[in-house]
Formats: sequence, C-alpha cells, structure tokens
Amino acid sequence: MTIFRGPPTPYIPDDLTIPQFILDSHHPTRPVRPHGIPWLIDDVTGTKVGFDELRARSNGLANALKIQYGIGENDVVCVFSSNHIDYPVLVWAAHRLGATVSTANPSYTTDELVYQLQISGSSIIFAHPGSLEIAAEAATKAGIPQDRVIVLDSVPGSPHKTVPEMVSFGLRQPVSFVERRLEAGEAKTKLAFLCFSSGTTGKPKAVAISHFAVIANVVQLAVHHKIDDPTIPPEQARFAVGDVCTAVLPFFHIYGLIVNLHFALFCAMSIVVIPKFNFTDFLGSIVRYRITDLMIVPPMLVLISKHPAVKNYDLSHVKATWSGAAPLSIELTLQVSKVLRNAIVGQGYGMTETATAVTLMPVPQRLGNGSVGTLMPGCAAKVIKQDGTLGGVGDLGELVITGPNMALRYHNNEQATKETFVDGWVHTGDEVYFDAKGEMFVVDRLKELIKVRGFQVPPAELEGHLLGHPYVADVAVIPLPDDYSGEIPMAYVVPSADIAARVKDPKEAEKVKAEIIKYVADNKVKYKWLAGGVEFIDVIPKNPSGKLLRRILRDKARADRAV
Ligand code: ATP
Ligand code: MG
Repeated sequence: MTIFRGPPTPYIPDDLTIPQFILDSHHPTRPVRPHGIPWLIDDVTGTKVGFDELRARSNGLANALKIQYGIGENDVVCVFSSNHIDYPVLVWAAHRLGATVSTANPSYTTDELVYQLQISGSSIIFAHPGSLEIAAEAATKAGIPQDRVIVLDSVPGSPHKTVPEMVSFGLRQPVSFVERRLEAGEAKTKLAFLCFSSGTTGKPKAVAISHFAVIANVVQLAVHHKIDDPTIPPEQARFAVGDVCTAVLPFFHIYGLIVNLHFALFCAMSIVVIPKFNFTDFLGSIVRYRITDLMIVPPMLVLISKHPAVKNYDLSHVKATWSGAAPLSIELTLQVSKVLRNAIVGQGYGMTETATAVTLMPVPQRLGNGSVGTLMPGCAAKVIKQDGTLGGVGDLGELVITGPNMALRYHNNEQATKETFVDGWVHTGDEVYFDAKGEMFVVDRLKELIKVRGFQVPPAELEGHLLGHPYVADVAVIPLPDDYSGEIPMAYVVPSADIAARVKDPKEAEKVKAEIIKYVADNKVKYKWLAGGVEFIDVIPKNPSGKLLRRILRDKARADRAV
C-alpha cells in the first residue's frame, strides 16, 4: 500500500489565533525583520505600513467593532473588497474578537453576494468604496441593517461608517474586550475563515478553515522553502528578508490570503498591494518598487511570455515567480524563464479545502519541469486508481490528501462534506501521478477530462502544448459531443498579435486553423487531435483566481451549434 509522504511535520503552535501568531509571537523558523522594512506598500499611493501601525489599527478596529456592534465569538464578518492595505487589519480585528471572517469576491453581483452572506451567516460587511453599492443592496436583501455596512475609505455623501473613523474611535476608547487565550489544541477547531472555493465547476462552496490550518500552511511553506537555512547560497535563497513581492492575487481567494499575505509577512518580505490587475501597470509596478517575487497565476505568466509590452521593461531584478491555482505547463515554464532570465519559475498545488499549498517545487530547483513539486512537510497523499485501489509511483488516479493544513468541512453542507472530507483526508477531484522522486504531476480535474472513444484526454495538456505555438496568445480546450467518439476535443484560440489581422480574412483564418490543428496532429497521439476544430475568440473566460472557465465555453459551443 503506497502512501506518499512529505518530510516530518514541523512545530506548529495549536493554541494561537492568526493575529497572535503573526503579530504577537515568534516561531523558530521565522526570520527577524530589521527595523524599517515595511510590511505593506500601497501600489497606488506608495504609502508604506509597518508593524506598529498594522497592530495598532487592528486593535483599534477590534475595539470599535466590540463597542459599536458587540462583535464576538459567534459572529461572521464579511470582507467584500479588492486588495487594500487595510485588508489584514479587518481580518485580524475580527479574529482578535474570536469572530470568523468570510472573504467575498468584490466583482460579485448583488445576488451572488447575498448567496455568500446567507450561506456564511454574516452579520456585518466591510466593503471597498467600489463595491459599496452592491454591498448595500445585498445587505438589504440578506436582512443586514445598513449601519452594518462599513466602507474601507470615505465616500463623499455616504451615510456609512468608515474604517479610518472606526479605528480612531477604537483607539480613543478604553479597551473593551479581553482577548481569550485558546486552550492547547483549540486552534485546530476554532474557525478563522469561511473562504469560498472558486466556483470553477459549479457554485462556490463555503470552506470552514481553522486558525491552526492557516498557521500550519504558513509554517509548512517556510520549512519547505528552507527560508532559515544559512547554507543555501543567496542566489538560490527563496523569500529572503526584505524581498519585495506582489499582491495582485485577490486576498479573498485562499492563495492570495494565505500564501501571498500571511506567508510573505511571516518571511519579513514587503508586499506591494495591487487592487486591480492591469498588465502594463503591473509591469510598471514591478520596476518602480523593484519587486523581486511574483506570486501569480498561469494567465499572468501567459502575458509575461507573450505580451509585446514586456520588452520595454527591465525585469532583470525579478528573483522568482510562483504559480498555482491552475495548470502551468512545461512549455509555458520555459517561455517565462526566457523572459525572466534570473528568476526561479516555480509552481505549487493546492485548493481552498487544503488552506492552500500541499506541494511545491523542491529546493534548490530553479526551473519547473511541469510537476507541481513535492509534498510539503506533514502532508501525505494517496492516489486512488479508477478501479478504487491505491496506486504507486507512476499510477494515475484521484489525489486524496491529508496534513495539518486541511480545512474542517464545508459549512452548512453535510452531503458535500461527506463526499470530500473522509476520515481526515480530502478527496481533491484532481487526477495526478507521482514520479520516483516524489514529484507530483497534475493531469487535470477528473470532471473535465475529455472522453474520446474511451480514452481520456486532459484539456490542460493540449492547452499547454498549444501555448507553445506562435499563433496562440491564449487557448482553452473543451469537449464537443460526437456520435461516433462520444466526445471530441475542440480549441478556442485567442490569436497572437502577429496574426490577429490575418485571421480577419476568412480564407486566411481557415489556413491558420489548419496549421494549429496540424500542430497537435504532428505531436500528439490520434485520439487527442482537435477533431472538433478550432474557433477564434477575443478572450478566454477566467475567474479572478486564475482558472479557465471551460464550462462557459462548453455552453457557448453548444449554443453556437444549436443555432
Ligand atoms: P470549485 O471547487 O468551486 O469548482 P476550484 O476547485 O477552482 O472551484 P479552488 O479551491 O480555488 O477552487 O481551486 C482548487 C483547484 O485548483 C484544484 O482542485 C485544482 O484543480 C486546481 N489547481 C490548483 N493548483 C494547481 C496546479 N498547480 N496545477 C493544476 N491545477 C491546479
Ligand atoms: Mg474545487
């Protein structure tokens, strides 16, 4: 019976909340942050925030939340905001009071937010000015009084309280709350977050995550990356003190929240907080703040490798890019490494249900090889083959994973909990295999494999291959129903700048399509060929956490064919 295991579990405190861990205590793996290295930098204003200010602001806000709203252990606080330097302040203020935080996607419509407010049982909302109108509407629909909608920055004419007002009120008042010390082991069951999965395969699910799971993942990441190992030469050292990293990934999603925010702060890095992704502005920020570490997702790596503007920026100081949340092919890895010549091009794998990462590229490797890396300390994995038996090295099957960073359950969803969280193991729904060195390769989501005459075709493999073609700026592969084969693969392609004009001519477009189809036929076994053809499209639909929304394209293909 093969169980794949990462290194031993490191020391993870089980009696601390997240703010106590990040702001009030010291962990043996944690580097010392010299005075003067800011914690956060606002990309838009250049404002720098340090430890004293973050700690004081979160304590002040906690005090105000207690005095003005009586927030305590049983409350759920919803944060409905794009990235903002006060984001951690809101989170830690709620945690200081024992409350749970539910992070929501700021581009939600009113009804989508209402769904999250109701599922999570939120009783108060923090909203970014740009999301205030929707927050207010959703509050009414969900039965939350308007005075419980608080805006992050002041909005002229708005009746809503603001965070800066509450912070200064809270700091002026005597401290009204006693922060409860957790019992030994209590952090394992104490809820920190209700984070929602990305909704790639259906409706987002509310994932209940403990303080311990988050702290565990931060420690696991630090130990895996050997951030405190003095024998690693500086050019191979990852996440060094004083490095500057991006925070363009949304903090409402687990990757942004845990790895990009909490882990980077633990490592004594400075984080440039970017509220909205615009590629050329992003390149400008990398140069302006001399950003060394890019925590990003594959669609951004596609832009780095293909966008014509990149050559106008000197990115030679970038030390590392870290990709997760969606497949990063070996083809794309190599292309990015040509553009970012001095950078590690790394990848990890995780999900909301595992409070982010369970595998990461091993140290001291510099370049990914298409794998998502090795298991992190304390994680163990099984590969369940199609026949239900356990697979060994090289066998394909569903990844089932455990470790100290597992979420507790889906909130208010017993059926889904029973299917996914089984005896402490999380059933991921992803097809993977391990090689002899313990590196894991993700094939694709089981639900999204295309079944051609009984053979399984992973769309991610074809997408990775197609991105290697100069005509292809972006691509998604989906199944079309087919009488003979059951399903056949087709590709939606965004034409690259070189051929965008050419494909406007229908005859030329047909020639280009034929070349793309041939590129697959020349390199892949016959059942993987694009028998469903190629269609051009302006953009591939993606969600903010970086995933292709193939289900939208499947519906489009079906609708186009029905006409
Ligand atoms: P939902 O569960 O609501 O359909 P989701 O699964 O996309 O959405 P997340 O929890 O954000 O929500 O994403 C986890 C999934 O992302 C994993 O199950 C896996 O399919 C995919 N994933 C994460 N990292 C990688 C990676 N490095 N390579 C390939 N896929 C990845
Ligand atoms: Mg999922």
